[in-house]
Formats: sequence, C-alpha cells, structure tokens
Amino acid sequence: MKIVVTGGAGFIGSNLVRAFRGVPGIDEIVILDDLSTGSEENLRDLDARFVHGSILDPAMLDDAFSDAASVVHLAAVPSVPRSLRDPLRSHHANATGTLMVLEAARRHRVGQVILASSSSVYGRNPTLPKREDLRPVPLSPYAVSKLATEAYAIAYASCFDLAVLPFRFFNVFGPGQSAGHAYAAVVPSFVSAALDGRPLTIDGDGEQTRDFTFVGDVAAVIVDAVLRQVSSVDPVNLAFGSRTSVRRLVGELEDVLGRRLDVVHRPPRAGDVRDSQADNGALRALFPGVTRHTLRQGLEATVAWM
Ligand code: NAD
Repeated sequence: MKIVVTGGAGFIGSNLVRAFRGVPGIDEIVILDDLSTGSEENLRDLDARFVHGSILDPAMLDDAFSDAASVVHLAAVPSVPRSLRDPLRSHHANATGTLMVLEAARRHRVGQVILASSSSVYGRNPTLPKREDLRPVPLSPYAVSKLATEAYAIAYASCFDLAVLPFRFFNVFGPGQSAGHAYAAVVPSFVSAALDGRPLTIDGDGEQTRDFTFVGDVAAVIVDAVLRQVSSVDPVNLAFGSRTSVRRLVGELEDVLGRRLDVVHRPPRAGDVRDSQADNGALRALFPGVTRHTLRQGLEATVAWM
C-alpha cells in the first residue's frame, strides 16, 4: 500500500508518518510539503520519500499521487491569526489547495482521501458538546477555509464517488509542535515559556476551554482509518470530549513540572472561539478500539521532547 501525506513535514504529519513505521501492509510513504511552516528537521528520521513542492502545483501532485491507495491531506496554513493577517493566502492553501488535492485524487483514482478540518468550524455556535450536525458559524477566515475543505470533500464523494474521511481536529498537541514563533499554539507556547523560566501569556481571562488532544492518539486513529479504508461523507470529530480551561492547563503543567508558574494576561484574540468540547459518538462508532492519552501523559511527553 502506498500512502501520501500532504503536510507531512509539519507537526501532525511527521508524527503520523512515524506512526506508520513498521505497520504491516504499508510499503511506501510519500510526503508532499512546501516547508512553509513544516521543517526539514521533522523529516530527519522519517522513512519516507520527500517531495518538496506545493499542493497548488498539479505536476507535484501527479508526481506524488500515482498509485497511491490513500492520501492523508494535512497541508494547510494552519492558524486563525495567520488567516486574519492574510485571508487570501489561507484561502489559497486551505480551500483551493484541497480542491487541487481532490482533483489529483480523482485523476489518479486514489482509494481514500482523509482530510484535516477543524473544530473552529463550530465558531460562534454556543452548543456544547460540539456534535457534527450542529450548524457551523465560522468566526475566522481560517474556519471558513476548513469548512470549504469539508464541503469539497462531500461534493467529491457525491459527484465522483471518491471515498473521503474529513476529520475535525481539536487543539492537537504533543512532541514536534513548534513554539518559537508568534503563531504558536497554546501548549507548546506554555511549555517552552515554563522551561525557559518566562511567564506564560494567557489570552483573555483563561476561562476559555479546549478539548486538548494528544497527537499520538490522532495518528493512531488515522493509521487505523488507512488500514481499514474507513470513509465517511460526514465530518467526524477527532477528540475525546474533555473540556479543559486554559487556567487548568497551567495547573496541569505546574503539576508535571513540580513548581508554580507565573502568568501574564493580554486581551482575547480576535477570531478565537470561547469554548470547545467534542461529542465523540461518531468517532467511537467508526473506531471502536480507539484509546487515548490523558492530558497529563500528553504534557509529560511534550515536556520530555522539548
Ligand atoms: P503544521 O503547520 O505543522 O503542518 C502543516 C504543513 O503543511 C506544514 O508542514 C507546511 O509546510 C505544509 N504546507 C502548508 N501549505 C502547503 C502547500 N501549499 N503545499 C504543501 N505543503 C504545505 O500544522 P499542523 O498542526 O500539523 O496541522 C496539520 C493540519 O491539521 C492542518 O490542515 C491544520 O489546519 C489541521 N488542524 C490542526 C490542528 C492543531 O491543533 N494542530 C487543529 C485543527 C486542524
């Protein structure tokens, strides 16, 4: 079986490619990445062919996709603040890029396309937990581009009989997630500040909640999805239904490190949702054997990696 991972030099992608290592039946892995936010460092110990190029380039897609059984499409400009700064770039990479990937999958008769959407599509809809059939009310250009990703997947499944599996990821964290830039996610920012002895910067009051998901659990679900060729036209939340405030995250990190941490507050960020918690009934129905790491275990692994 040949697998293509777009965005495989990124955080989730490189963890996924590592998770495929040694899995019986996986003969070849191809990574297609333009290294815009991913890094060669992430590729170092991966047993995969690396194609350096953009998903917006059909020739690159043709090179990578021929004879692929599955494509895991993770490549994107992956952040709300980045999309506020440059909405068109976000749209090109995430919405147009997905369309290009689906077109190439159709050309090459790829058996299955797994796509990365995001909990951000729920946006302003206040209902908790987030069930996949809630009305999406995206709050940022990023969230709109992820909704477009799902919508194109649904259209390609219905019009061209392409097997798809759009996952909505919720605040994925773990080893390999970069910290040292303005758009870093909350867990690596906190861990890196704590290890450097700097105060942790909380956006807003810290009572906003997230369903933090360990990257190893995300990778394990995707590997299972590829091996069993699972598909679903409807998006599937990939998270475990926990609801942790940013303040509690600080407390968990204090417990892991065995010391108190200083925090400073700044105003809430535009485009951010207030609360997030997945309903994972659909995930458990499709992946009955799914297991999870606790937040504590995930933080310990992240601290050990940093
Ligand atoms: P990441 O930035 O580490 O990975 C994205 C990868 O895509 C990078 O390696 C980047 O170089 C590559 N890329 C970007 N534009 C490209 C293009 N035009 N052509 C080829 N490669 C390109 O981010 P991540 O956290 O690993 O996110 C992976 C996917 O999961 C993204 O689609 C993101 O939107 C989605 N997602 C992530 C989270 C999370 O919490 N990390 C939550 C929801 C959704």
